[in-house]
Amino acid sequence: MQGNYDAIIIGAGACGLMCAAQAGLLGKRTLVLEKNDKPGAKILISGGGRCNFTNLYTSPENFVTANPHFLHAAFSQWTVEDTLSFFDTFGDIRGEEKTLGQLFPKSNKAKDIVAVFTRLLYETGQDIWLRTEVKSVMREGEGYTILLTREGENQELFCKKVVFASGGLPVAKLGASDFALKTARQMGLQIVEIAPALVPLTITGKDASWYTALAGNTIFSRVSNTRISFEENILFTHWGLSGPAILQISSYWRAGERFTIDLLPKFDITELIRKERLAGGKRTVGQLLNDYFTKKMVEAFGKYLPIGLKIASMGKADAKLIADTIHKFMVKPAGDKGYDKAEVMRGGVSTDELNPRTLETKKYRGLYFGGEAVDITGWLGGYNFQWAWASGFLIAQDL
Ligand SMILES: Cc1cc2nc3c(=O)[nH]c(=O)nc-3n(C[C@H](O)[C@H](O)[C@H](O)COP(=O)(O)OP(=O)(O)OC[C@H]3O[C@@H](n4cnc5c(N)ncnc54)[C@H](O)[C@@H]3O)c2cc1C
Repeated sequence: MQGNYDAIIIGAGACGLMCAAQAGLLGKRTLVLEKNDKPGAKILISGGGRCNFTNLYTSPENFVTANPHFLHAAFSQWTVEDTLSFFDTFGDIRGEEKTLGQLFPKSNKAKDIVAVFTRLLYETGQDIWLRTEVKSVMREGEGYTILLTREGENQELFCKKVVFASGGLPVAKLGASDFALKTARQMGLQIVEIAPALVPLTITGKDASWYTALAGNTIFSRVSNTRISFEENILFTHWGLSGPAILQISSYWRAGERFTIDLLPKFDITELIRKERLAGGKRTVGQLLNDYFTKKMVEAFGKYLPIGLKIASMGKADAKLIADTIHKFMVKPAGDKGYDKAEVMRGGVSTDELNPRTLETKKYRGLYFGGEAVDITGWLGGYNFQWAWASGFLIAQDL
């Protein structure tokens, strides 16, 4: 029985499920091992339960990785069109764009996505063992010995091909584990340093109360550092900053670094002040800012800016201070909210270790890594699932 599988797949998340389904469509037999009591736990809660399952504009530039070229092979073999046609064909699911190319099922139900896989796995005769935790994978002869606990009982399996689709560290309560990384390390594979990504950032120290006072306020902003820039909303919270633009920059942020926020990216405050002056400059700085920001935000600006000053009486230094504060607001986060609040993990098994067309390790025949375990981290907006589907597909072709 154990030897009859073409491959054993560890993890019934996005990558593992796609891998098993595609293997099934090719007439192969796989066994999926999953420690949770249901498949696709993360898919089910993704995108607020609606699952942002791909992004129309996916390209290698939307990923953080030590080697962006690696993705060309994967994305030429499995495209966004392939994702759309797969879910349409096997689940009658059509995507609806919400914003910035982000596609969600029209039904708005993530469970429809998981149902596609459970049905396909069943119809193509793939096995899935739930409540089964893999404890170790060891190379033995021409294959791998897998030690696991299944519903409390220890068991041993052997298979020539093993797929690590066991994800990364974010959200332990959804089954996240360092199992892929730990095993890769034991096998002498290189790991690119990991960190939480797409994660809210914390502010402590003397500025903390300023952020707390603004908790709940959202502002459309441009958040930039020396590497990248994102224009989307930011959200002030009791402990710091969140919202899509902050989650995006967090993937490019390193501890101790600063970044800037343009709090009014669609306007030039210097130009607005000039126009106000031409009109007599009778209003105060605060009144002008009121046209573009919430009352709460303008009050908060009072800590840094002379909001009571009449525009007509402003000097050059005042104008520069206002422009710098509005367009180059400097932020130095204390840290991030950690793996339990992160959407993904940055880093992972180095792409240098993998064949870009099959995701098989170069060192060990029959050993594959896909999905979040690999050093490929997508932006917010469906990119991570697109990588998970693509990597599952690629591996399946080689099983
Ligand atoms: C709150 C949240 C919302 C998200 N929303 C989106 C979104 O809308 N769009 C998007 O593109 N991305 C989203 N993501 C990211 C996306 O969910 C992941 O990138 C993706 O699920 C990774 O797929 P994976 O198959 O590699 O890993 P996972 O989906 O994490 O699957 C790994 C599986 O392996 C199992 N496992 C781990 N260790 C073992 C072991 N030792 N034995 C047996 N089983 C094991 C785990 O239980 C898990 O089920 C979101 C993430 C979070 C946390």
